Amino acid sequence: MTANSETNEYAARAERAQAALAAVKCDWLFVSHSTDLLYLLGFTKRPSERLALLLIPREGRAKMVVPGFELPVFQPYASYFDLIGWEETENPVAKVREVVGEGASQTIAIADQLHTVFTLRLQAALAGANWLEGNRVLARIRMVKTAAEIDALRAAAAKTEAALESLLAQPIAGQTEREVLRSLHQGLVDRGLELSGGGIVGAGANSASPHHKTGDRRLAEGDALVIDFGGGWRGYRSDITRSFHLGEPPPEFRRIYQITHEAQQLAFEAVRPGVTTEEIDAVARGHITAAGYGPAFLHRTGHGIGLDGHEYPYLVKGDRTVLDEGMTFSIEPGIYLAGKYGVRIEDIVAVTADGAERLNHFPRELRVVD
Ligand code: ZN
Ligand code: ZN
Ligand code: ZN
Repeated sequence: MTANSETNEYAARAERAQAALAAVKCDWLFVSHSTDLLYLLGFTKRPSERLALLLIPREGRAKMVVPGFELPVFQPYASYFDLIGWEETENPVAKVREVVGEGASQTIAIADQLHTVFTLRLQAALAGANWLEGNRVLARIRMVKTAAEIDALRAAAAKTEAALESLLAQPIAGQTEREVLRSLHQGLVDRGLELSGGGIVGAGANSASPHHKTGDRRLAEGDALVIDFGGGWRGYRSDITRSFHLGEPPPEFRRIYQITHEAQQLAFEAVRPGVTTEEIDAVARGHITAAGYGPAFLHRTGHGIGLDGHEYPYLVKGDRTVLDEGMTFSIEPGIYLAGKYGVRIEDIVAVTADGAERLNHFPRELRVVD
């Protein structure tokens, strides 16, 4: 993409945000440093004690209140909005009030990620306003990816799988969970991916804890192993889980692996436009429940993915998001038997016109490693 078409893309996203504001009868959208800002601007940084706030009105031109000495940083991105700088001795919330007024009878959507201290100050200064969660405006837009966004997710997935494959090219028995995770992270860095932190390596009984905190347990023959990790490619995230066994697994491990594998496949086959997220969860859960392991499937079936590793929609009972072409999310059923072992198989998928495409291609068959 050229710089100009990128600029147009961000302006188009802001226009979609304005249409979404109209749809929920909301007057303003406030967005600070976060993936929401990255989505709307192509730029963000770590939030700090200095307020930077994009103010998108339902109609008309947007404004952005930023620290005055950072104006040169924001200038290249200010295509569809005007910048308003605040000096170190000024109150940035007062600048917001100059734009918005006191908020009387206005509804303001405030993006999900904003330091609480700013939310409290804004609510005090704009005392007449009604407040709405920013996801009511932005989630719907961010959920549906463009072809370029899906390309980035596909590249992130492929590079992450290469890192996993290179880990398994050598024996891993004898290493600690932490050492394995460090190798995986190094594999991501070597392939140009951004580290997003986190990642789960659970060996033996630790594999039965879905969000196990990777520790110092040493991998040994006879251990089950769950590996769940990812990184970022141009901001877009990968997230894959595979379960392995060091040496020959016991029959029950094979059984829960097979059931999880089938549940993952059935849920994938159920994805198409028009189906709801909770229906996909019900497909995976129904299969595991029918096999007698319902209570051992401890979590939802999946989550959206994009600029955030976890974002809307969520594949869980009660979430009735209707799937649409371009939505991307994980399908990651699991069975966890406390004190013994656990299995989870996770792929990222993209909804297509008549079904779904897997963005992950790492084999899902049970693999015995050493
Ligand atoms: Zn998780
Ligand atoms: Zn994961
Ligand atoms: Zn996940």
